[in-house]
Amino acid sequence: MSSIPATASTLAGALLRQEVLDLHAYHVPDSVGYIKLDAMENPYLIPPELRDEIAAMVANAAINRYPDPNPAALKEKICSVIDLPQGMTVLLGNGSDELIQLLALALNKPGATLLSVEPSFVMYRMIAVFTGMRYVGVPLLLHAGKANYGEADFSLDLPATLAAIKREQPALVFLAYPNNPTGNLFSAQDVKQIIAASPGLVVVDEAYYAFASDSFIPHLAHFPNLLVMRTFSKLGMAGLRLGFLAGSTAWLGQLEKLRLPYNVGVLTQLVAEKLLEHHEVLLQQAEQIKSDRAKLHIQLSEVTGMQVYTSEANFLLFRVANAADVFSGLKRRGVLIKNLDGGHPMLKNCLRVTVGTREENEKFITALKETIIQNAQG
Ligand SMILES: *Cc1c(COP(=O)(O)O)cnc(C)c1O
Repeated sequence: MSSIPATASTLAGALLRQEVLDLHAYHVPDSVGYIKLDAMENPYLIPPELRDEIAAMVANAAINRYPDPNPAALKEKICSVIDLPQGMTVLLGNGSDELIQLLALALNKPGATLLSVEPSFVMYRMIAVFTGMRYVGVPLLLHAGKANYGEADFSLDLPATLAAIKREQPALVFLAYPNNPTGNLFSAQDVKQIIAASPGLVVVDEAYYAFASDSFIPHLAHFPNLLVMRTFSKLGMAGLRLGFLAGSTAWLGQLEKLRLPYNVGVLTQLVAEKLLEHHEVLLQQAEQIKSDRAKLHIQLSEVTGMQVYTSEANFLLFRVANAADVFSGLKRRGVLIKNLDGGHPMLKNCLRVTVGTREENEKFITALKETIIQNAQG
């Protein structure tokens, strides 16, 4: 018997799972007062023509009641805006992060493995840890400079990925399409081969679908082990928290059982349904972001000592001589982006900037040039 009286901290240390004690909380920096280009948010607010209508809906919402546990009209709206093939359905999540967790919970038989590629979205690995699932990350290919072997930077290493799938027999595979934080779209042919070779469920995560030139939704019917995951976060609704899985009812009917009944709130349901009635307005914003991305890519490439990667998302990944210096120089000038250095060896001296409004992008480029000049002068 210990004579030391229990404190909350000794108890927490003794009772919590070791994986939890070892975790570092997902760090969200304080962004108040900064030009915020760190989190892949859409910089535009609700379209003005909808603002009053939404304000009235919110004012009259029945927030004293639990939300509709199965919002059929919202789900139908989603199915129609994404052109979901016949016989397929959607499962709603409180953001798609929640759906990654739900999938891991559902497929985590004893000893089961979650496989992804690296560098990719960090939540795949983190949620594997949360849920006690084995995690395997297969490195992407990185070639210095231009595509040397007909492969673009951060493309899939198909032979290595197929070998890992054969060896590890993962129950669950996540592929972000386009990938975050690299921004590129993997070869669709490679992804199809991975799905075909996988004994487990493959989830193609299309968080950036609005900015990309391809999707796996049309292929859902061809692969019995494929689900497509999307979120509305990058399309102007990050604050609402709404994501979904699309696929066959055979999969989603089972996964529904794990979904917490009221995971999507009253206000989210109301506002999302209204905004999706005007999906084309959101897609126009995405088009604007895509054309500004092209401009920003050129401007970044013109800054000395910069390597900029091709992106089909609403952000650009770029490599500099010293990421920490550039990051803090930008921050001193009021611009917050993401420093990826230290996250993965392939991301050494890499930074990620979200495409903002034209004005924000200009301020970013100006601050970047000032920073580089100042750093060069020592
Ligand atoms: C942002 C992001 C998500 C998560 O989005 P939610 O806001 O939780 O819906 C999922 N996957 C990728 C690749 C992302 O970049």
